[in-house]
Amino acid sequence: MAEPFSRFKSVSVDVLMQMELEDLPAHAFPTSPTECARCGAVYYDGRWRWGVAPGHVREGLCPACERIAQHLPAAWIVLTAGFSEHQDNALRLIEEGAERARALHPLRRLIGRAMGADGLELSFTDMRLARELADIVQHAFHAQLTYYYDAEARQLRIVVMSQKPS
Ligand SMILES: [Zn+2]
Repeated sequence: MAEPFSRFKSVSVDVLMQMELEDLPAHAFPTSPTECARCGAVYYDGRWRWGVAPGHVREGLCPACERIAQHLPAAWIVLTAGFSEHQDNALRLIEEGAERARALHPLRRLIGRAMGADGLELSFTDMRLARELADIVQHAFHAQLTYYYDAEARQLRIVVMSQKPS
């Protein structure tokens, strides 16, 4: 079986922060006011937001709903099996943080969770959100984070492990 994550390469946080600047494709910025047909987010004055757009809007799909529809998360946080003693608390922190982010930014969302080969995988519409939530988990539980980036698909996987005893 082909390894689904073979294109993911280990990267540093510094490199990631540069990637994030290029994260959104050009069509994420419509030329006229737009309302997402799925979630109701509106685009005007250069950004997507919750609320009502002034004047006439055309219907479209926001980048977050587009990613969800295409099953193309921007990022995952993977809580490995070795991290299971903290899993419930980590999940709570991640879900609360994601809810706060979503309320402020329509494009920054937790998509869902699923068991994968490496552990519990949480998927996100936004790289920076995943990175910020992984940082929260790292600080709360002294976890060890490893970042893997697929430069072609522009997808990030953050693997969370328990700190190795020194
Ligand atoms: Zn939407």
